Amino acid sequence: MTFQTSRHKSLQPVGLATRYLQNLRRRDFLAGQAFVDGQWMSDGQRDPVIDPATGEEIAHVARCGAAEMQVAIAAAERSFPAWRELLPARRGAILRSWASLMLEHADELAILVTSEQGKPLAEARHEIVYGAGFLEWFAAEGERAYGETIPSHKLGSLLQVRMQPVGVAAAITPWNFPIAMITRKAGAALAAGCPMIVKPAPETPLSALALARLAEQAGFPPGVLQVLVGDPIELSTPLLGDTRIRALSFTGSTEVGRLLLKGAAESVKKVSLELGGHAPFLVFDDVDVEKAVKGAMAAKFATSGQDCLAANRIYVQRSIYSAFVGAFAAAMAELKVGHGLEPTTDIGPMTKLSVARKCRSQIDDATKKGARVVSARHDESLGPNFISPTLLSEVTEDMLIAHEETFGPVAAVLPFDSEEEVIARANENEMGLAGYVYTDSLRRALRLSERIECGMVGINTASFTGPPIPFGGWKQSGLGREGSRHGLAEYMELKYVCFGDLAA
Ligand code: NAD
Repeated sequence: MTFQTSRHKSLQPVGLATRYLQNLRRRDFLAGQAFVDGQWMSDGQRDPVIDPATGEEIAHVARCGAAEMQVAIAAAERSFPAWRELLPARRGAILRSWASLMLEHADELAILVTSEQGKPLAEARHEIVYGAGFLEWFAAEGERAYGETIPSHKLGSLLQVRMQPVGVAAAITPWNFPIAMITRKAGAALAAGCPMIVKPAPETPLSALALARLAEQAGFPPGVLQVLVGDPIELSTPLLGDTRIRALSFTGSTEVGRLLLKGAAESVKKVSLELGGHAPFLVFDDVDVEKAVKGAMAAKFATSGQDCLAANRIYVQRSIYSAFVGAFAAAMAELKVGHGLEPTTDIGPMTKLSVARKCRSQIDDATKKGARVVSARHDESLGPNFISPTLLSEVTEDMLIAHEETFGPVAAVLPFDSEEEVIARANENEMGLAGYVYTDSLRRALRLSERIECGMVGINTASFTGPPIPFGGWKQSGLGREGSRHGLAEYMELKYVCFGDLAA
């Protein structure tokens, strides 16, 4: 391996991603063409794709604009009647075939994810399996979009409620899970009978376009699944105002989510928003410290901390506070930082420089206000997108990190004294995606799971996501749910039908 100074001025394995990409069997994964109306479009300008570890250009992708989006909307609209009319089992068969192709090409997809997103290869591979799981699950759930029969309040009448596909759907997806955030949305929409147009994050287009290649191979008719990459505003503006787009699903920052919600109001769409979090992680003194540390490690450092479920405030009861901080620092010291394609790496680069900058500003702010840096091995030569795992203790609520999402490998640990106090502090935040509670008391677990203000709660576990659960948040963390039957309902309309005059 040669190490040299790259455009980023970092001591990183320049050329590593390129070498991996050159060896891909599926050369079409690197073609960088958008997928519109069953055609691969590559005319016009192209944008570079950057390896966030080294700053190198590793590929180029076609830049779509408003004109291409108009073509896509019209194609999706045309494809809707036939797709809606297919038997759910037939739609499910195509979704399953898409999932099988993803698993067949899991290693190659993982290389794409790591090369453009930065996460360690093992995590990227896990994302492919996790992402394919949504397609398999919704393939079956589409067959269970049951309606209802309502006991009638009118003599001689029969009351039915049906679930019908809402129409063309659009997805705007983030860079932290460039595969799974597409399949979680598209699996539900396509199973419901809705065509979907996907606009992935500009940082991670290769993963999205490779998914489109596999979707074509799986047999979706033209226009049913389309992927367009390019400038976010140029591509989303036509979607927002157009009444042919009946549903919009977004994952990303709260700021952009608010803009999209406002924009979608113009055409009164069904909108679902997954806007990130600021998860409180509560550790009570009746638990085994090692067990709680293991949970905190998983909840903080998955996806190098770039995860909306990441523990952003780790509250530890005062009597075990020092023991927890010591054990947590020791576990963090084991984490290896580096290029995601290096087999020993646990923490890769931040995908965006802005995220690394936000981490640094939170560390500076916290230390200025009295937080203690317990563990951090900053190595400037890693490059500007890298943040070494950093443990801040004695964090207080006036610090930025206590209320602003970190999205990186910086852990904030705060002491608390009583259950009443900690639940009030945990709920003070305007985010409400996930929360974690570590306790051996069943009563306390039940009380806190009821009182914590968020959409998902892990009791003595940091691992709870997957296709069957309703993923989503309260408060500023979003609207609607993904995964589960609730996720399918985001793409369906209820229709109430009253059959009257049935008396013989
Ligand atoms: P972002 O919200 O800007 O990007 C998410 C998606 O929205 C991308 O596809 C992007 O191209 C698109 N987008 C951006 N601006 C848009 C606009 N004006 N109109 C339409 N689409 C637009 O997020 P970011 O700036 O890349 O990251 C900033 C912060 O957002 C992160 O630090 C993190 O706190 C949060 N975030 C959360 C998640 C999550 O999983 N909920 C994912 C990514 C980012």
